[in-house]
Amino acid sequence: MVQSSVLGFPRMGANRELKKATEAYWADKISQEDLLKEGKRLRLEHWNIQKDAGIDIIPSNDFAYYDHVLDHIQLFGVVPERYTKNNLSPIDQYFAMGRGLQKPEQGVDVPSLEMVKWFDSNYHYVKPTLQDNQVFKLAENPKPVQDFKEAKEAGITTRPVLLGPVSFLALGKADRGQTIEPISALEKLLPLYEDLLKQLKAAGAETVQIDEPVLVFDLQDKVKNAFKPAYEKLGSLGDAAPKLVVATYFGDIVHNIDVLKNLENLYAIHVDLVRNPEQISEVIGALGPQQVLSAGVVDGRNIWKTNFKKAIELVETAVQKLGKDRVIVSSSSSLLHTPHSLDSEKKLDAEVVNWFSFAVQKATEIAIIAKAVNEGPAAVREQLEANAQSMQARASSKQTNDQAVKERQQQVTSEMHNRKSPFPTRLAEQGKTLKLPLFPTTTIGSFPQTKDIRIQRNKFTKGEITAEEYEKFIEKEIQDVVKIQEELDLDVLVHGEPERNDMVQYFGERLKGYSFTQNGWVQSYGSRCVRPPIVVGDISRPAAMTVKESKYAASITKKPMKGMLTGPITCLRWSFPRDDVHQSVQAQQLALALRDEVVDLESAGVYVIQVDEPALREGLPLRSGKERTDYLKWAVDSFRLATSGVQDGTQIHSHFCYSEFQDFFYAIAALDADVLSIENSKSDAKLLKVFEDEAYPRHIGPGVYDIHSPRVPSEQEIKDRIKEMLQYLKPEQLWIDPDCGLKTRQWKETKAALTNMVNAAKFYRSQY
Ligand code: GLN
Ligand code: ZN
Repeated sequence: MVQSSVLGFPRMGANRELKKATEAYWADKISQEDLLKEGKRLRLEHWNIQKDAGIDIIPSNDFAYYDHVLDHIQLFGVVPERYTKNNLSPIDQYFAMGRGLQKPEQGVDVPSLEMVKWFDSNYHYVKPTLQDNQVFKLAENPKPVQDFKEAKEAGITTRPVLLGPVSFLALGKADRGQTIEPISALEKLLPLYEDLLKQLKAAGAETVQIDEPVLVFDLQDKVKNAFKPAYEKLGSLGDAAPKLVVATYFGDIVHNIDVLKNLENLYAIHVDLVRNPEQISEVIGALGPQQVLSAGVVDGRNIWKTNFKKAIELVETAVQKLGKDRVIVSSSSSLLHTPHSLDSEKKLDAEVVNWFSFAVQKATEIAIIAKAVNEGPAAVREQLEANAQSMQARASSKQTNDQAVKERQQQVTSEMHNRKSPFPTRLAEQGKTLKLPLFPTTTIGSFPQTKDIRIQRNKFTKGEITAEEYEKFIEKEIQDVVKIQEELDLDVLVHGEPERNDMVQYFGERLKGYSFTQNGWVQSYGSRCVRPPIVVGDISRPAAMTVKESKYAASITKKPMKGMLTGPITCLRWSFPRDDVHQSVQAQQLALALRDEVVDLESAGVYVIQVDEPALREGLPLRSGKERTDYLKWAVDSFRLATSGVQDGTQIHSHFCYSEFQDFFYAIAALDADVLSIENSKSDAKLLKVFEDEAYPRHIGPGVYDIHSPRVPSEQEIKDRIKEMLQYLKPEQLWIDPDCGLKTRQWKETKAALTNMVNAAKFYRSQY
């Protein structure tokens, strides 16, 4: 029979209980015992949800208090000495690696290990950090075994999830000052996996899911060649170990399929058939005569209801070739990247809510698909009909299809992507209107979001103050911020963004085509969750979104005022996108809406406009080649479409929260933004060399100080930093600004830091 399985379940709980418990533990408000109890309760609850949904193969060890990769770091003893020397309890050591620990009274002060994005998702994992003479040691009473036993005691036989040895190492790095190539440690690591697998088998595990997601990358030969020997070894354990299901997700594995061929001892291969359904035939072709295909047909990365008809067809294709016993129906990836349950959404539009499916609902979908294939459609007729109706309703809904938006998209021309004149002409025009000094100073947009701002916004949301009262309050905030910037003698001012809660949600709430959940939280890192807005239909802008505040701000100062917008790619990447039209289409719709806003700002007398695109890089497809070039093309096009409607004298800025552009510099250059402000204070100034090498003519403001810390940089420090930048950038090209927005800072340090920044700029101005 076809079995149903889930690769992993969200950890936070229906009401983010895990977040609350861990944060309470960190704040010393609950004991370690309470935290562990809450973890246990959540695991059990999640197993039972999946069991009740009818899932045959339920995962364990997918739960983590902070991050599953960090679990493996501790599991294999890849713990740098700085975390072991203070005799912390295991869980405190674990959190210290995840988030750093500062307890001066106990003499503990360690930063966290590096955390980076998990593939192309918004989840972040902790990087395994290895020493040159790395010694691995399997933890006593390993967590995967504990969790398996815990479930078993509750009457549920689970399939433990492990991150595979090749991915674990390939996703790691050498520690500071070390030179080890992590993959070279594979042979030393493998015996620990063997030991662990044996322990799992002894505890009663029949199968284990072993994730090797790096198989979707373009792999270095060393990594690619590591697979075969590693899995020959693990496979040779035979009955002493559980059967192995190698899982991949977020891409296709056709280009790496040869490493999985002829590994007869692997029980099953899991592939993501939501992202890449077309890989099914090649993957089936590569399976040995006994091997099982785990077909990931329910999207683990998005919130849309599964199209049963399509999913069932795909599974049937596999069944025809392999037979029912050799097919498993599954989520495409772990469901970690979807919100917990739709049940708690009470305010969603009744039409739209019927199109969504969160983790709890997705588990049920998987079970239904398996049943349909096993017993025939009649067994689940009602569900299939309801699903078909919902698909039909969504496809034909007015919310999904806005004819006016489609028509406008058809009228987009290539000229609409180009500014009227090349940069030198624009610069001359801008010089006339803006009259900026050399080394102009500015900030990235937001100023401290004080407690008062949050209180007033809350009152307004709850209806405790009127729209006029709130507006008055915002105006007063803008006045204060403008006055402070004038006193600081900054050159290009901003209104401070006091009216914005979040840089994507604020725009989503003002655009047609977006929907918002009340409780659709998704883990981003550690205890941190985000609640992405959902693009439900064609996007358009019913009315101006930011003009009122920016126009007001511009009216109360003689200095140039910079309008502040979030770019199309960032709006898209930090939302759940539609799955029924290509993302390039959605980006173009967003771009058109923003284009109108940009033009409206200009008409309102705002002649500097910044369009933030921090998410541009994270949207880069995982593999190089056509997919990546295509993405960069439409991403750049959407920025240009959004920003090219203005006159030459209007200055377009863009902002990025990093300065590693080497891999796609041509795209950054192609944005044709007059001024780029980028993070640089925490990175090497050498990264600016690309601008020099590529003879980049436009203006750049590399951040001169870190805004993530309350620390005030001295004037001298900033001067030194500028001096370094001048090795790569021409004086007439250089803007002086902080790394990013100041919303998380306090006023005190903000004023002090900006005073030093302006003085440093003035010093250089006097030198040239
Ligand atoms: N304009 C935004 C701000 O200053 C930019 C934030 C960001 O880059 N993440 O807050
Ligand atoms: Zn930033």
